[in-house]
Amino acid sequence: QLENVGFIGLGNMGAHMARNLVMAGYKVTVHDINERTMKKFSDDGIPTKRSPLEVSESSDVIITMLPSSAHVLDVYNGQDGLLTNGSRLRPWLYIDSSTVDPQTSRKISMDISRCTLKEKKVYAEKPIMLDAPVSGGVPAAETGKLTFMVAKICNNMAMAISMLGVSEAFALGQNLGIKASVLADIFNCSSARCWSSDTYNPVPGVMMGVPSSRNYDGGFSSKLMTKDLDLAMSSACKVGSKCPFGSQALQIYQKLCSDGCELKDFSCAFRHYYAGKDE
Ligand code: NAD
Repeated sequence: QLENVGFIGLGNMGAHMARNLVMAGYKVTVHDINERTMKKFSDDGIPTKRSPLEVSESSDVIITMLPSSAHVLDVYNGQDGLLTNGSRLRPWLYIDSSTVDPQTSRKISMDISRCTLKEKKVYAEKPIMLDAPVSGGVPAAETGKLTFMVAKICNNMAMAISMLGVSEAFALGQNLGIKASVLADIFNCSSARCWSSDTYNPVPGVMMGVPSSRNYDGGFSSKLMTKDLDLAMSSACKVGSKCPFGSQALQIYQKLCSDGCELKDFSCAFRHYYAGKDE
């Protein structure tokens, strides 16, 4: 049985995307603040709603295709927004295909993760949010050939694992008597080189301008990394993908948070978990 899809934002891209879903047989309900756009849809027999909240009440899946972060925040958290109706939601999947900054996606994802489902689904215990921007422009939207980039949680899982790997290796190197700056020079011109070693090094004193150089303040909090790993593990579980390192990384970040480091940058795993020595 095809899901009831709520589509919000029927502009250059969204109008085509919503119509393609209708043609594919989905039961689509739409909303836009532009009255003329709404009329075109209702004239074509596609149900329209006066607010995001009303859309959410009749949908299992919500797709937003809005101009920018402020519009997305408004549609989710504004008056009669998608999350207005307290913490028990009907839709189990929220897909934001607008191109927005990661802070906005993270905020919405956090807000959704605090909610529960009105009715649990076989494939979801809690509502899920996907940050899924698209590429291909209006022609691809029209012909149903957009590229969706939903790989962010995979990227963040790899980033978490590489950060822990670099932290562990630096801690071992220092315990063997090698200075962190020497280790960094070696790693960064060898096969261990990666973003965690050459751009965001977790060892205090190795790089300027990164969270490790300012007591791990600012940056990407361990709490958010834990949330992303949690999302990655739930997704892995759903598709039967084995992620032993991902699941170990989740445990490490959960421990970091319960030890009081939840607001510190995720590279603080080096100091806290591996107890490496500074330069
Ligand atoms: P658009 O401006 O044509 O359409 C946005 C729609 O959102 C409009 O119909 C507007 O009325 C509606 N809207 C704005 N605020 C709203 C609100 N609060 N509630 C309900 N509806 C609201 O934009 P677009 O070109 O369709 O692009 C949408 C997103 O896709 C943007 O983030 C853009 O960066 C991204 N994108 C666009 C293209 C492209 O070629 N146009 C390609 C890739 C990605």
